Amino acid sequence: MYETERKELVEQLKKRGITNQALLDAFLKLERHQFVPDVIKPHAYNDVALPIGYGQTISQPYTVAVMTQALDPKPGQKVLEIGTGSGFQAALLYQMGVRVFTIERNEKLYNRALKIFDRLELKIAARCSDGSLGWEEFSPYDGIIVTAGSPGVPNYLKKQLAINGKMVIPVGDKFTQTLKILTKKSVTEFQTDEIPYFAFVPLIGKEGWNEK
Ligand code: SAM
Repeated sequence: MYETERKELVEQLKKRGITNQALLDAFLKLERHQFVPDVIKPHAYNDVALPIGYGQTISQPYTVAVMTQALDPKPGQKVLEIGTGSGFQAALLYQMGVRVFTIERNEKLYNRALKIFDRLELKIAARCSDGSLGWEEFSPYDGIIVTAGSPGVPNYLKKQLAINGKMVIPVGDKFTQTLKILTKKSVTEFQTDEIPYFAFVPLIGKEGWNEK
């Protein structure tokens, strides 16, 4: 289903500068319409963020692609995602051969994502908790990807990143953020690159924004 639309979306991503072939292949295979509510399915291959309920969104495909290209995950690596939402980003990483750990704070979205992972037979480790604290048990991670906007880079996540690991995280105010790409050079040193102009829903948690 929606094969033509999926191919067209991948062509658009290529035109906008996405070159990572493993990522483009994963986008071609993964059915985005499986991750959105029924009424939204006809719009699943438009390059836009879409509502998934509870005031949350499935990120725009281009944004997912830019973040994943920046993370540059390799098969067999361990990646922690903060903000499971629909489950699409986690599934995309899984499709690329990554060992995926994902955290969602909203219980309803968490349960919905679990059902989707189950239905599509995706072996993704998921938990419902405050992702700004990370998931220490399985650390260190080769990559950490945060899909909600944060006021800063949570210290717990810095600690749980492996040496030479990469973290991709939108940092800014509640409305606009800069995508920060951190490479951990040593226990205390990080090299940081930036891509401006992103807009994510807020990361709510102990090391994110307060609930209210
Ligand atoms: N990655 C998702 C996808 O592929 O659909 C999109 C994520 S949506 C833009 C951001 C998600 O982050 C929301 O589902 C929100 O509930 C979640 N979130 C916000 N703060 C969080 C936190 N501290 N820990 C875990 N999840 C959080």
